[in-house]
Amino acid sequence: MLELENNSVEQHDTTEEHQAQTLKTLSSLVCGQEYSSQAELRTVYHAITGEAIYQVSSHGISTKAIVDYAKKQGAAIATWTFHQRANALKQVAQYLLERKEHYYELAKATGCTRKDVWIDVEGGIGTLFAYSSLVRRELSDETALVEDAWIPLSKHGNFGAKHILTSKAGVALHIDAFNFPIWGMLEKIAPTLLAGVPCIVKPATEGAELTHAVVKDILASGFLPAGSLQLICGQIYDLIEHLNPQDTVTFTGSAATGQSLRANPHLNQYSIPFCMEADSVNSAILTEHANDETIDLFVREVFREMTTKAGQKCTAIRRAFVPAALLETVQTRLVAKLQKVVVGDPEIEGVTMGALASVKQKFSVAEKVEQLSEDAKIVLGGHLRQDFEIQAKNPEKGAFYPPTLLVCEQPTEAKHIHEVEAFGPVSTLMPYQNLAELADLVARGEGSLVASVVRNVDENIEALITKIAPWHGRVHILDAESAKESTGHGSPLPYLVHGGPGRAGGGEELGGLRAVKHYMQRTALQGSPNAMTQVGHSWTAGAQVFEDRVHPFKKDFDELRVGERLLTARRTVTEADIVNFACLSGDHFYAHMDKIAAADSLFGDRVAHGYFIVSAAAGLFVDAAAGPVIANYGMDNLRFVEPVKIGDTIQVELTCKQKTPKPQRDPEQKPHGVVVWDIKVKNQRNELVATYDILTLVERAA
Ligand code: NAP
Repeated sequence: MLELENNSVEQHDTTEEHQAQTLKTLSSLVCGQEYSSQAELRTVYHAITGEAIYQVSSHGISTKAIVDYAKKQGAAIATWTFHQRANALKQVAQYLLERKEHYYELAKATGCTRKDVWIDVEGGIGTLFAYSSLVRRELSDETALVEDAWIPLSKHGNFGAKHILTSKAGVALHIDAFNFPIWGMLEKIAPTLLAGVPCIVKPATEGAELTHAVVKDILASGFLPAGSLQLICGQIYDLIEHLNPQDTVTFTGSAATGQSLRANPHLNQYSIPFCMEADSVNSAILTEHANDETIDLFVREVFREMTTKAGQKCTAIRRAFVPAALLETVQTRLVAKLQKVVVGDPEIEGVTMGALASVKQKFSVAEKVEQLSEDAKIVLGGHLRQDFEIQAKNPEKGAFYPPTLLVCEQPTEAKHIHEVEAFGPVSTLMPYQNLAELADLVARGEGSLVASVVRNVDENIEALITKIAPWHGRVHILDAESAKESTGHGSPLPYLVHGGPGRAGGGEELGGLRAVKHYMQRTALQGSPNAMTQVGHSWTAGAQVFEDRVHPFKKDFDELRVGERLLTARRTVTEADIVNFACLSGDHFYAHMDKIAAADSLFGDRVAHGYFIVSAAAGLFVDAAAGPVIANYGMDNLRFVEPVKIGDTIQVELTCKQKTPKPQRDPEQKPHGVVVWDIKVKNQRNELVATYDILTLVERAA
């Protein structure tokens, strides 16, 4: 049994803590147990009613035991294959989806509308599904990821290399912000677990109740190995000091906290990667010649980003740049929309925007608006006190803040506007005179997560994009053509990178398989083709082959061996073949059919169609009788290397390159797997004329 309490820390009680004892204390879920303390409690309040709802404390917890538990027990995830991890993640996602209403209920305390919660709950669970299917689709069922086919490094082909990625023998510590307590955690643990690395999650104390509920459910589901996911509610104390070079830290939150954590000498000493996502002063740009429809699109996008989740999104638009001549028009339309927003308790019908996460956040936003107003005029909102209408029983108790629009007439002289992130329903409109000035203004944000460029469909924005892209992790181009289907400015997607340079933290998350690779070590592996074949179980040209009297298409998936080879009969290509294929396919290209033009061509003579070679090769290697091969479902990496002329004789080498078992979707379906075959078509001089991979579905043994 692991010792959960750190005996070196003395426990103590205070009067305030005694008073708070009737409140629920959120436990940490660590070392296979629940841990909580009554010392150094922090209380969290309901965003709408202001009532105390829970408290947290991890005082006295043994952070060393947590790290050790992850590395001893949780490391079992590294022994699972990619597909096992992905299947487990899919089961977890289904399990959470069945319990989502519980999360919606808890989220009421965070001040969100149901639509806001959808981003966190369904967005988070959707990210698990997306990552699970991406890995099942793109990666083979192995524990190591092989990146290259073969990098030849020698004359005779006996020495070469591949890059491989293996799970780091460590743990990932994920420190999350308060604004997306579910999505923020799931989008980080999905790639980590798929990489075969256990996680320790530290949610922001505000919102931790939601993270706690989800982690508790994940652990209860039993789909993941013990120790692969732990949760610390409260502080992490000296946990970072127990990390080593195989570990990773990610952080989402304020720049001040992120920078101080990143400066930890222990991280520096052991070169522990620290991926940070912090305050980002994101932009939206209305292009110079925007027409009426484009202006409306722009206004709608800025409005949506200001009001969704009451503007508490790391991607929300903080700076809205418009051509000077359109400033008044945009301001009028945006103010008209914002004036219709009904702020209050989302439980009350008609409320369209909820509260901030806490009263502390309300004061923080008010303070930031104060700073912004040194550079800009507040044209709407900005009231800290209750002099705007709030639909709630006790408006003075809640963390309500009105939609607030500022206008900065001289953005080139402003400072705070480009640097301060007011994390609420706050945005600043500002004019620009020309493209050069616009690019300069955008760059003053010193690096952001995302920018939107809203343009007329026929406007060329290439120059603008190349100027602003280096300052952003994502650029969203919006116009009338994409508007209906656009996922919007503010939505990070599993397949696209999320992060940004400079002020935005310099980190990168998501981006499909890129995120999985962040938790793996890339190693350049050099050696012989046989040595390379052993790692990743993918046959490498030049490695040992096995020949058998039984045709490989007669063998089921389990019987086949990687490296199993068939050398076919030969076939001499005739003029009749070329003419027949031209008539059959309708491809009468001169290189095949016009003796005179072909004589002047690169080939100097008529050549066979490349697709005829591929078809003829299939004719040579296929075993026609019914058997375990169910279907041919694709072809990869096709290259025609040498031309085949009339009278040339071709022969095919078919080699079993890789085998990937597939999960059986329903009991009716025959169990099967994917077999990748290496195909090499050679001529009578043993020269390679075509090379490619074919993919077949092959039945498994009964
Ligand atoms: P924060 O105070 O920086 O906290 C972020 C996370 O760090 C929380 O989990 C917090 O835990 C933890 N933390 C704080 N001090 C720590 C320490 N010394 N060691 C280890 N962990 C520590 O940020 P926040 O309260 O979540 O948000 C504050 C501001 O961050 C917002 O107003 C906004 O400006 C910015 N923000 C930016 C993004 C973004 O992605 N760009 C997202 C969210 C927020 P506790 O909660 O327990 O203190």
